Amino acid sequence: HALPPEAPHLVDQLRGALPRRNGDSHKGTFGHLLCVGGTVGKAGAIRLGAKAAMETGCGLVSVASNHQVVQSLQFAEPEIMSVIVPCYDSLLPEGDSASHVLEHPYDAMVIGPGGGRHSRLVQFYWEVIQGASCPVVIDADALYCEDEDRNDILEAIIRRSNGTVLTPHPKEFERLTGTPLPELESCKLDIAREWALKLGCTLVLKGARTTVAWSNGDVYLLDCPNAALAKGGSGDVLAGIIGSLLAQGMDADRAALEGCKLHALAGQIMSQRHGSYSGGPLKHIQSIATAIAQFE
Ligand code: AMP
Ligand code: MG
Repeated sequence: HALPPEAPHLVDQLRGALPRRNGDSHKGTFGHLLCVGGTVGKAGAIRLGAKAAMETGCGLVSVASNHQVVQSLQFAEPEIMSVIVPCYDSLLPEGDSASHVLEHPYDAMVIGPGGGRHSRLVQFYWEVIQGASCPVVIDADALYCEDEDRNDILEAIIRRSNGTVLTPHPKEFERLTGTPLPELESCKLDIAREWALKLGCTLVLKGARTTVAWSNGDVYLLDCPNAALAKGGSGDVLAGIIGSLLAQGMDADRAALEGCKLHALAGQIMSQRHGSYSGGPLKHIQSIATAIAQFE
């Protein structure tokens, strides 16, 4: 397949950017990612994230979710492992859901895609986020907070010390930070920088143009508009790609920036093949291989 005309500069930027892969390796070499989320009705989100993570080179990928989601995943995606989390599952006693997840030494976590916003679940996400000694991507429903919980959640992000990547779209950013949307649209780069510095984390402000703000205040703008990505599931693919790079040992700032570039490049290849109407997240994931082959 010919590359779309806008692809070469992303290819050049990605050359040498991903972790080197030594043939003398085993599955443990490339990290174990846990993806937390996937309620019934939005189970596809966590599946997309986990598939994208595998495709991006992670050694092991597990999903933590409820009984039904885990059961359907086991047969549909044989390479993905899973854990049933008590708080997701009314069939199990509630138990201590967070320690259920935290007792295993994962190399990175993606928390939130299709996760659900029930207060019991939100509490579980934040227990995991606060307890995790590995880097985390906080996405989707794990970015949701009630107004009265906002300060506690922002404080919990500030207290983290193992690499934190937030991946909100504008509405999620508005909810999380209380920044009105019109203000965000008028000075996205400055606001992204301000919040990354304030929270001491990496902030990926998604959109047709995505801003990546590093925890030191450096800001990058990815100017790669692509209508084929304007479909449900695109953000779940991004969270999985970034989580995969974290699990393979990249630091949070780099994993977010290079992950966004890889997501954009795979998106360009996908829309070249399938068009901007018929492209979608599953085809996007299939294009990750072609994207990586351009610069590997
Ligand atoms: P979400 O809203 O969480 O599904 O995330 C959407 C993902 O798709 C983000 O990574 C966006 O940057 C990307 N995206 C959505 N619409 C476009 C667009 N028109 N052009 C480029 N990227 C897009
Ligand atoms: Mg999303």
